[in-house]
Amino acid sequence: MLNSMSVLQPQQQHSISITPAKILVVEDEELLALVIKNQLLKLGYQVAGIVETGSGAIQLTQEFQPDVVLMDIHLHGDMDGIEAAGCITDQFDIPIIFLTAFGDSETLGKAKLVSPFSYILKPFEPIELLTSIEIALHKHRAEQKVKEQKTWLYTILESIGDAVVATDNQGLVRYMNRVAETITEWKKEDAIGQDINDVMSLITGTARNSLENPLKKVLKDHKDVLLPENTYLITKNRQEIPIEDSAVPILDDQNQPRGAVIVFRDISERLAANQQLFHHAYYDSLTDLPNRELFTDRLQHLIDLNKRYNNPPFAVLFVDLDRFKIVNDSLGHPIGDQLLIATAHRLQNCIRPTDTVARFGGDEFAILLEQIADINSVCHLAKRINLELAIPFDLGNYELFNSASIGIVQGHSRYHLADELIRDADIAMYHAKANGKGCYAVFDASMHTQVKGQLTLEQDLRRSITDQRLTLRFQPIVSLVDQSIVGFEALTRWQHPQRGLLLPESFIPIAEETDLIVQLDLLAIRQACQQMHAWQEQLPPDRQWGISVNLSGHHFSRPNLVDQVANILDDTGFDATRLKLEITESALIKNPELAAQRLSELRALGLHIHVDDFGTGYSSLTYLHKYKVDTLKVDRSFIQCLDKNIDRLEIARTIVVLAHTLKMEAIAEGIETAEQLAAVKSLGCEYGQGYFFYHPLTVEQVDTMVREQVAENKCL
Ligand code: C2E
Ligand code: MG
Ligand code: MG
Repeated sequence: MLNSMSVLQPQQQHSISITPAKILVVEDEELLALVIKNQLLKLGYQVAGIVETGSGAIQLTQEFQPDVVLMDIHLHGDMDGIEAAGCITDQFDIPIIFLTAFGDSETLGKAKLVSPFSYILKPFEPIELLTSIEIALHKHRAEQKVKEQKTWLYTILESIGDAVVATDNQGLVRYMNRVAETITEWKKEDAIGQDINDVMSLITGTARNSLENPLKKVLKDHKDVLLPENTYLITKNRQEIPIEDSAVPILDDQNQPRGAVIVFRDISERLAANQQLFHHAYYDSLTDLPNRELFTDRLQHLIDLNKRYNNPPFAVLFVDLDRFKIVNDSLGHPIGDQLLIATAHRLQNCIRPTDTVARFGGDEFAILLEQIADINSVCHLAKRINLELAIPFDLGNYELFNSASIGIVQGHSRYHLADELIRDADIAMYHAKANGKGCYAVFDASMHTQVKGQLTLEQDLRRSITDQRLTLRFQPIVSLVDQSIVGFEALTRWQHPQRGLLLPESFIPIAEETDLIVQLDLLAIRQACQQMHAWQEQLPPDRQWGISVNLSGHHFSRPNLVDQVANILDDTGFDATRLKLEITESALIKNPELAAQRLSELRALGLHIHVDDFGTGYSSLTYLHKYKVDTLKVDRSFIQCLDKNIDRLEIARTIVVLAHTLKMEAIAEGIETAEQLAAVKSLGCEYGQGYFFYHPLTVEQVDTMVREQVAENKCL
């Protein structure tokens, strides 16, 4: 008698497989079970066990993991062979071969439901057993291989970064990977079986037309299809996602399409990065306005279009802020930046959405008006811009107002290049500026001539400086106590060969723009020291005069300034204590640390520092006390209205008090009348300068004065 479950040791006989396959025999007829066992052993298999019930079969399968289960369909007990086979195939991947004495269709039909690998009808020959087992093993291995490959493929498809969707040849979705689920917002189980048009509807980004689904196209044309550029996928939740990539047919052995597969990816991030790069290249980072490149591009496009079609006229405005530099220099860059941003908004508010306002850098803006009625309407806009800028800007602690000089040029058939129009608008802007703050000018051809004139002037100035053909005038500075001369201010004049005697206002701005100012200032200091030294030699020791020389802000920041001044003092032998350098407030406030250092170095040479035109900048009182400054020169604009304007008088008084508080002296500039003199004296100002006392004098005129002094001294 066999136990209901008996485990047999595997026997090694002539081998069919390399490792003999392990067979579990489920058979409730004891004798037959033994016969099968012997046959199996003879055929070279191992017998994992013999068991006579369904539940025993499941248990032994779990325990021994046989390679094949030989399962009798009719078993004693609560579970027949078909049911037991169903449980085994559900839990384990092991081929089942049914043994049955009944080949009726009902039994076979039931058995089929659990997908057995084959049937052997009892009684059978060993060869039938062998064949069935070997076929089952072979089929199982082949199935496993397919399964492995499927898993492998599935893992790859699920782990790649691209979305994959496949359809059958009717265009119904058969597969979609995880990325495709994320992008389309469709769950795989909902999408499978749906028409691809419903799962992946596509449009073109620009025209927003529906696109024929590439998978359908592939199925129709049997060819690969590339998605057109700018394709957007509409997701299940109606989001639009930019995608790219291609669809290919899945062909069978006969080259017939069995379906199609599309591989695509979401390119939103790449598009955003591209857009960012574009923005960076074509927009100003501070104001977010288009920059010069984009403006030029749009303008050039318009010029080209106008050449081809007879489009309405257009115009370019070049806008330069009048007071920006002074705000930036005196209140610092953060406030300057805020002013630029606020100005950009105001300019944008003045134009139509179809027009372009761009920032060219610094305080320069440009406006492109695409369709204008006539030039008067452009002039009207220029006026409006200035009205807008005149409304105070509220920037934290400061309330600032501004104005702009605006150059206007109208598009014309003679213009071929954007740069030509911009250049002429710029020239017109300079003309507007020359007419005073807040003005506009429309470009006309004569302006070109003037620009050329400026260029010539620059070349002439360069030559004149090299040839030392600039001269000085000396304007006396007097003591307000007794009106005696205490010194002079050296003022540069240019005797131009054709244009006659030129005042600084017509050449200092050019010199500052071109850096010629450095040489011009050094020449003025040298000439002044030489001249004063010559007069010093003649004058008695108790009648010595000082000399003030102007130093441009451009020059002040140069590293070798101190050495250059020291060399001049050395060369001329002039007493440094009698030299005063006049520096404007804005030059000091531009870079306070550097200014403080430069002032100490200059004062270490023995000379004095005067702050010129004091009160015209947004002076920073915080800095003033840090500087080693000897004298404040109250700007002419305060002095000239002193007798009429009470506010001006108060400002002048404040400046004088400030100077005295900081242990400085004060010089009133531009005194022209006795009333102004009286007012200035009442403020306690020490010194004065102005036409009321003297105009700037020539060397000869001062020579005469010197001779008089010498003669006077001899008489004493
Ligand atoms: P600044 O340094 O403020 O010089 C005073 C200016 O006021 C001089 O003009 C002088 O002629 C003028 N002035 C003096 N008293 C009166 C008056 O009572 N009424 C009026 N209306 N004007 C008066 P100027 O010589 O035309 O010089 C103008 C500016 O040019 C100077 O202003 C100075 O900033 C600059 N400058 C002159 N020479 C040089 C130089 O060698 N180097 C530099 N960097 N700047 C210079
Ligand atoms: Mg001066
Ligand atoms: Mg001055």
